[in-house]
Amino acid sequence: MSFKIYNSLSRKKEVFKPIHKGKVSIYTCGQTVYDDLHLGHARTYSYWDVLVRYLRYKGYEVTHVQNFTDVGHLTSDADEGEDKIEKRAKERKVDPYALVEKFIQRYFEDLDALNLNRADIYPRATQHVQEMIDLTKRIIKSGYAYEKDGNVYFKVRKFKDYGTLSPTPILQKKSKCRVHADTNKNDPNDFTLWRKVDSNVIMKWDSPWSVGVPGWHVECSAMSMKYLGETLDIHGGGYDHLYLHHPNEIAQSEAATSKRFANYWMHTTFMTLNGEKMSKSTGNMLLIRDALKMYDWEALRLTLVSSHYRKQIDFNKSNVRNSEALLLRVYRVFERVQESTGGKSESLNKWIREYRVSFEKAMDDDLNTPKAVDVTMLFLKKVSQSLGNKKSILEKSVETVKELLRVLGLRLDKEIVIGVTSGSSVKVTLSWKELVKKVSGSLKKKNKIDGLMEQLISLRVEARSKKDYATSDDIRTALKKAGVELEDTDSGVKWRVK
Ligand SMILES: [Zn+2]
Repeated sequence: MSFKIYNSLSRKKEVFKPIHKGKVSIYTCGQTVYDDLHLGHARTYSYWDVLVRYLRYKGYEVTHVQNFTDVGHLTSDADEGEDKIEKRAKERKVDPYALVEKFIQRYFEDLDALNLNRADIYPRATQHVQEMIDLTKRIIKSGYAYEKDGNVYFKVRKFKDYGTLSPTPILQKKSKCRVHADTNKNDPNDFTLWRKVDSNVIMKWDSPWSVGVPGWHVECSAMSMKYLGETLDIHGGGYDHLYLHHPNEIAQSEAATSKRFANYWMHTTFMTLNGEKMSKSTGNMLLIRDALKMYDWEALRLTLVSSHYRKQIDFNKSNVRNSEALLLRVYRVFERVQESTGGKSESLNKWIREYRVSFEKAMDDDLNTPKAVDVTMLFLKKVSQSLGNKKSILEKSVETVKELLRVLGLRLDKEIVIGVTSGSSVKVTLSWKELVKKVSGSLKKKNKIDGLMEQLISLRVEARSKKDYATSDDIRTALKKAGVELEDTDSGVKWRVK
């Protein structure tokens, strides 16, 4: 089956054909590093991770480059405002380079915690200014840019297909342009390739035109060309880049090289939080690191990829709860396989093959991750109905589910400790609250909790016999918080730790 990508440039799904057989070059626009990442960022980066993982699963040799913008990005995506990093550094009275260092480190902490594979190369804008100057020179030479008062601008009207990527018209009539527009520009639509800066700006470089900084858009073109060549296979970014940043990347790259810049353009849509747009400016956002304090990382990761990347989703508690329930079902089937002694049947073999085919079919269709999750759940249902299969086939089913769901970024390697206890005739030495505290502590130290669980379950049995369901429920809830789940079965109370 061939892999299809919805190409934002042609606005339709196309069969993916790499430039070099068996190899894929991917550039994705990265973070402007002046703050912590929120879940919207996590969602976009999770999909690039899924894209890379899936292409590798299909046997491609992938090179993924993602930049860090550590200079040049103004507070508006267009040529207005202050440099975001200089501004934040000034507010916090820190060196801008130190600010950048701090947030790059935190970027990795956050995305590592969500099990995102790192890109192969992370170029930083500040370390590629020479490449940006060289590219700007080429653009001037090809006649698409001009210098005025130390600044260099790109002539957008000269570039024939300017803005075809954007879903809405990108060129504005002069009268509609904002009053504060840069008066050096021949046309207010022109964008900056090099900007002269004041002497009090800390991050600045020498250039043939002035002491200044590169424009934000030119960074991505220069860095992607350096590492991936003048034409790359896939360029990705958030949906907002469709309207300005990416059309500008195309214009300046193609003006310099006369070659197509990227063959496939992929864009992720936004995620809302509790029904409203997630945004730093309104404060309606949840940082990755805060979300990780509230929820299990694997449930979070599943939530982030559980809708299609081009479909807007809302992040809320009930979505995460759904993911938790789904994961619980997955682990339950693994557990049943682990406990099963197996039989003689081999009927599952056929389903394993079919499961792989339908998973690939879903992913080949422009990374249809929700469908891939659906077919997994259907397969797991089949597995739990087929426990009479040979143990080796049952184990192969589990391995196949793990292999495929790892393409979505899950690990599915939580160890499951299971115990069953009747809870009768046990000497109880502490209150249930103290016991739960001890359970929690023992789990952290990876110590056995069998004895403590015996006591707790005994207390719970006692409470239930007195019809004190409130206490019985409190014990269950407190244990769940500590990481232990209870299940009432015919043979006693089953508990499990994940
Ligand atoms: Zn970019």
